[in-house]
Amino acid sequence: MTDLALRTGSINLGQGFPDTDGPSKVIEAARQALSHGANQYPPLNGTAPLREAIANQRQHRYQTPYNPQEQIVVTTGATEAITAAILALCEPGEEIITFDPAYDVYPAAARFAGARCRRIPLCPTLHGYEFDPQELAAAVNAKTRLVVLNTPHNPTGKIFTSAELQNIADVCIRHNLIAVTDEVYEYLTYEDYEHTPLASLPGMEERTLTVSSAGKTFSLTGWKVGWACGPTHLVSAMRSVKQYLTFASAAPLQDAVAIGLTSEEGWVAGLRRNLAANQEILSQGLRKAGFNVLPAEGGYFLQADVSPTDQPEALDFCRNLPHMGKIVAIPTQAFSAPENTKRYSSLVRFAFCKNDEVMKVAAQRIVTCF
Ligand code: PMP
Ligand code: GLN
Repeated sequence: MTDLALRTGSINLGQGFPDTDGPSKVIEAARQALSHGANQYPPLNGTAPLREAIANQRQHRYQTPYNPQEQIVVTTGATEAITAAILALCEPGEEIITFDPAYDVYPAAARFAGARCRRIPLCPTLHGYEFDPQELAAAVNAKTRLVVLNTPHNPTGKIFTSAELQNIADVCIRHNLIAVTDEVYEYLTYEDYEHTPLASLPGMEERTLTVSSAGKTFSLTGWKVGWACGPTHLVSAMRSVKQYLTFASAAPLQDAVAIGLTSEEGWVAGLRRNLAANQEILSQGLRKAGFNVLPAEGGYFLQADVSPTDQPEALDFCRNLPHMGKIVAIPTQAFSAPENTKRYSSLVRFAFCKNDEVMKVAAQRIVTCF
C-alpha cells in the first residue's frame, strides 16, 4: 500500500509511520555517537546505558523491577524481540494464543518456529472491541505454550481493560503459560485511557516477556531499536536466539535512545497530544462523510466502517480510495486469520500519525470524495 501511495501521489494513511522526526536531542546524540567511534559491535544484549535506562523506565512508570544485566535484551526493533521470543520458547507443534486481528509478525514468527496460532477474535461492539473469555479459556490445550498480547492494539486501537488483563493473567497462571506482550504503543494513549503492562499484575512478572521499542515512542521507526524485559531464564533463552538472528543491534543508536528514555518524557507527552488532535481531525472528516468511526483508545490507528458507502467491502474500498480520493488506507481484514475476515470485512484502518496539516488535507479529501 505504501508503494501504491507513492505511485498515485496519495497521502499514506496505510503504513503506520510518522512524517515528523523524533526529539532533536536524541538525534543529535546519535550523530555524536557516529562521529565519536560507536561504530563497532556493541554487546549482544545491548549497551549498558540503554539497558539501565530501560530498567529505570519500567521501574518508575510501572513499578516492575528488572536487573539490567540479566533481564533485558536490546533487539533490532520490537519485531526481532517478538520473533526471538517465539523462536526461543516454542517447539514445532506447539500453540500460541493471539487475538485477532493481529500485527502480522506474530503468525509469521509462529510459522518460523513450526508453531501454530490460535486466534481469539476481538469483536467490534458499541463499547469497543471485546473478546469472549470463554473462547480464550477453550483455546488452551496441552500444546499451548504462549499468549501474545498487544496493548495498545494494532490495528484496532483497543487498550485491554483491567478486567480483560486479569482474565488473561488468570489463564496464563492456571495453565502455566508464558506471556509475550507487545507494548510498542505504551505511551500513546488518549483521553482517560492508560496503559497497564500485563507483567505488573500479581503472578505475571515471572512468566512475562515485555516487548517495546523506540520507534513509536520517539517517532524513530527507521532506527529499529527495540527491547524485551523479563525473568532471567526467558531473557537468556531470547539472547541465545538473538545471537544467531542479528547478534547485536545498531551501536550508535542505542545510547541515544537511552537519553530519550531518561529525559524526553515531555517530548513524548507533546507527541501524544498531537496524535490525539490528529485523530480528532480525521474522525470529524470521516463522520462528516457518513462513516461510523471506532476511535482509537491508544496507538496510531482508528477504524472506520465503510458499509454506508457504495463500496461496502473494505478490500474494494481500499483498492479504489487512492484513485478516487488520493488516500491510502488498509483493510482491517489484512490483519486477520481467514476464519475471521468476515467479521472485519467492512472495516478500514486509517493511520493518524502524520502532521496536522496533512491530516486536515486528508480529512478534506474524504469529505469531498463521499
Ligand atoms: N508491534 C506492533 C503492534 C507494531 O505496530 C509494530 C510496527 N511498528 C511493531 C511491533 C514493530 O516495531 P519495530 O519497528 O520496533 O520492530
Ligand atoms: N507497524 C506499522 C503498521 O502496522 C508499520 C510496520 C510495517 O510496515 N511492517 O502499519
